[in-house]
Amino acid sequence: MKLHEYQSKSLFAKYGIPVPRGRVVSTSSEAKQIAEDLGGRSVIKAQVLIGGRGKVGGIRLARTSKEAEDLATIVLGMEIKGLPVRRVLVDEMVNFTQEIYLAITNDRSARRPVLVASSAGGVEIETTAVEHPEKIIKILINPLLGLRDYQVRDIAVGIELNRSLWRAFGQIADNLWKVYCASDATLAEINPLVVTTDGKLIALDGKMVLDENALFRHPDLVEMRDMDVEASAEIEARKYGLTYIKMDGQIGCMVNGAGLAMATTDIIKLNGGEPANFLDIGGGASADKVAAAFRILLQDPNVKGILINIFGGITRCDEVARGIISAMSEVKVKVPMVVRLVGTNAEQGLQILADAKMMTAETLEDAARKVIELARGGQQ
Ligand code: GDP
Ligand code: MN
Repeated sequence: MKLHEYQSKSLFAKYGIPVPRGRVVSTSSEAKQIAEDLGGRSVIKAQVLIGGRGKVGGIRLARTSKEAEDLATIVLGMEIKGLPVRRVLVDEMVNFTQEIYLAITNDRSARRPVLVASSAGGVEIETTAVEHPEKIIKILINPLLGLRDYQVRDIAVGIELNRSLWRAFGQIADNLWKVYCASDATLAEINPLVVTTDGKLIALDGKMVLDENALFRHPDLVEMRDMDVEASAEIEARKYGLTYIKMDGQIGCMVNGAGLAMATTDIIKLNGGEPANFLDIGGGASADKVAAAFRILLQDPNVKGILINIFGGITRCDEVARGIISAMSEVKVKVPMVVRLVGTNAEQGLQILADAKMMTAETLEDAARKVIELARGGQQ
């Protein structure tokens, strides 16, 4: 889950990383007010979850509060790479002499967090990596020991930071490590961290990405989720405790268990079909959960057939069968559907489905072949 700049910077501030004074607003009249409070000179920054806003006019410098209002009107009317700008951050204007890149992320191959720094900040790190790879410094962090003082000094030397700033830089690096760990982040990035004309370090931009799997530990951070950027099907899925990932094929899949869902998409492909999604309905299969799953699958106009593949363990197949039947009275499913049930109470489940004239299959392979054929309209 990505955080907006203003959210990342408010977390930074909480952890003692200096950021410019500022406020996020959604109207230009509020922008004017904030700019006035900041003394007129301000920066208007589009809050969209995408980098490189500067290049496309999403960052504007205003000399007066009137100008801030006008620029906020322009920026709030923009779309950046398909994302509408709903909020702008109005920050005090900072004058600087140097832009630094500083970030912590996971180095998967090293199996450790890595601190990345560069004297060439302000541009995207991917660009620096291509054009000036020698200007990027990486230091692996032992997660049990944390960031060590000597490592921070190595970085300070590496980015040719003036010695008078080492102390402040060390504190920022430490605090970035703290916020990274405490938020279960996969990225905490400051780009640029600037040296101001009066010789201070300040984080002008911030970006954080949080580990979705750890969000249950952070109810306060979950609240920061921006629903606008997520597909509505995925939001609906989360509401019912379903895991849904859309793909590009025609066969909708409804499966209990992540491993089984992967096996199901594989079998569909092996038999010449293309899965439309990955959908794990998890344990239990109450009618409202199955109905939600149907609605989610059918939101996708590409879906031409549905394969339901259930392995009854603790979840009983007869219960799932009843769930399917009652969900079908709620949601009109107009595409062909094939159900394969095995495990606990499979016989009763199959009987319930047979009584309702639903198409069933003995094996997963058989089910995949049937649904693929039906989705093609019966022709081979
Ligand atoms: P990004 O393009 O989406 O990464 O947005 P940033 O927040 O990093 O801003 C891009 C660039 O705009 C920075 O590298 C700075 O050069 C400039 N910028 C941003 N805020 C200020 C500011 O307060 N004062 C000045 N002079 N420039 C700024
Ligand atoms: Mn930036």
